[in-house]
Amino acid sequence: MKSEPLSFLSGTHVGPWEIYLEQVDRVTPYLGKYAVLVEHLKRPKRILVVDIPIHLDDGSVAHFEGYRVHHNTARGPAKGGVRYHQDVTMSEVMALSAWMTIKNAAVGLPYGGGKGGVRVDPRKLSPGELERLTRRYTSEIGFLIGPDKDIPAPDVGTGEREMAWMMDTYSMNIGRTASGVVTGKPVAVGGSLGRRDATGRGVFVAAAAAAEKIKLPVEGARVVVQGFGNVGSAAARIFHDHKARVVAISDVTGAVLNEAGIDPYDLLAHVAATGGVRGYPKAAAIPAPDVLTVPCDFLVPAALEGQITKDNAWKIEARIIAEGANGPTTPAADDILLERGTVVVPDVLANAGGVTVSYFEWVQDFNSFFWSEAEINQRLERIMKNAFEAIWQVHQEKKVSLRTATYIVAATRVLEARALRGLYP
Ligand code: GLU
Repeated sequence: MKSEPLSFLSGTHVGPWEIYLEQVDRVTPYLGKYAVLVEHLKRPKRILVVDIPIHLDDGSVAHFEGYRVHHNTARGPAKGGVRYHQDVTMSEVMALSAWMTIKNAAVGLPYGGGKGGVRVDPRKLSPGELERLTRRYTSEIGFLIGPDKDIPAPDVGTGEREMAWMMDTYSMNIGRTASGVVTGKPVAVGGSLGRRDATGRGVFVAAAAAAEKIKLPVEGARVVVQGFGNVGSAAARIFHDHKARVVAISDVTGAVLNEAGIDPYDLLAHVAATGGVRGYPKAAAIPAPDVLTVPCDFLVPAALEGQITKDNAWKIEARIIAEGANGPTTPAADDILLERGTVVVPDVLANAGGVTVSYFEWVQDFNSFFWSEAEINQRLERIMKNAFEAIWQVHQEKKVSLRTATYIVAATRVLEARALRGLYP
């Protein structure tokens, strides 16, 4: 395999980082005395770019490009996932790290924001190659991470297996087991019950809280899910468990539609057998981009950034959009959706369930005392509902979108911490 050229040296297009900056500009007029400090949100604290050379199975050596970004640590250690995807860029990891700062503050977790990424298509590597990549990446970023410094977790393209390798590599390098260095681990090595479904569960809780506000019953509601990975599949299952009707689902292989409802458990069995939703016999195939415009009550974008844009936002016929993915909606699309009266529960609130249970995992690892799944789900629900309620109030009082309301709450917390700590040295 040929090593990719370094992506961050090329191109000046508007990437996810510029979208984040625009979101910050929109909140600045509402920050009162903290508005003068807003520049702190517009600059990542530190960025590490690493070269990851690994032996491929054929004996050759391939180089991959890796990142770890600490966006802000005013409220605590950096926290955020690691993405493996062929399109990872520095702009993307910077934006993802900033969205973690906002997300963690929005739900009140004692963390700053960080994110990592490797520019690789993990489907093209063997398990052995992936293990060597993960271990080398972990070693390269080893001096930045630690249970009280920066705690990685899964994101697109990574999961429990990669987290176990990261935990082991870091632990071997420092000579003792440090299970709290990453979250999203398998339960057998210090992971938390409920972590696997936590993001999808949180999406459901946030979406249901929004539905209550507009008096939309979940039972019988039409649900459309874009992306059928960890987040989308859990959200689909939990909506289905609550008697909603999941009518369309897409993933990288295609999209399927059935007006009578798709059983996400059955679809998961098909995906396990065939590798994707394409060819699912109990639903009709539709073009993947069309999934976003299927009329529905709840639309859950749970794939990648930049999916809902000014080109398709006006065609969306959903009453509530609950963002499972990070950054699925551009600011221009936000404006169109606001005008059309669509309730957008933003990523930095809707998908905070994952990092919330990551926080529980980290706390449990520190104490070596583990909670029951029921307790975890209960605490998750409480945190998500309280955060939603506080943000809904701001949205009503200031007459701003839920995204801007979330940024008002979160940015105020981050900048208050910054102001209290002051500058040193
Ligand atoms: N990658 C997830 C997110 O974007 C989870 C991060 C974490 O658990 O630290 O929120």
